[in-house]
Amino acid sequence: MTESVQEVPRSVDVVEDGPLYCTVHPDVETSLRCNKCGRPMCTKCAVRTPVGYRCKECVRGQQDVFYSATQRDYVIAGAVSFGLGLVAAYLLSGLGLLFTIFLAPMAGSVIAQAVRWFTGRRRGRYTGQIVAGGIVVGALPALWPVVQLLALGVPLGGLTFLLLNPVLFVALSAGVAYSWFRYR
Ligand SMILES: [Zn+2]
Ligand SMILES: [Zn+2]
Repeated sequence: MTESVQEVPRSVDVVEDGPLYCTVHPDVETSLRCNKCGRPMCTKCAVRTPVGYRCKECVRGQQDVFYSATQRDYVIAGAVSFGLGLVAAYLLSGLGLLFTIFLAPMAGSVIAQAVRWFTGRRRGRYTGQIVAGGIVVGALPALWPVVQLLALGVPLGGLTFLLLNPVLFVALSAGVAYSWFRYR
């Protein structure tokens, strides 16, 4: 028979020798410790998480694990949202406002799903912003008629009806697409 070693439970709440000082702010006295790495931290440095107070570095480390997108994913996200945004804005530019109100959010969802598929569903800290930006840039050619009329001397005030559709498309589709990439 092997000897069984009884593990002695070690008290976590060891009485400290002296006052604790924040690791980042050595002149600030504190009684808080990060519950992951154990470093003393002041209230300014403590971040409240569902599992307790943690230091900013540990929270950052968690997020880096959470966000797994590579730089290539960001390029793909930009290209896919630009390409699909271009097509969607072009298709919708020929239709009326009601179609845009109804279809632009759907286009935003479709673009978001396509980006998720093309990037292997890896999560990126900036994917939402990049996708929204891609849709905005992709929709710019839809403003070409406005530019042409401006060049002909038509005042911008008289072109609001032409601007409304693309602007509405961008706001709705980019907004919906962005919301797909907001985590938590
Ligand atoms: Zn920590
Ligand atoms: Zn501090």
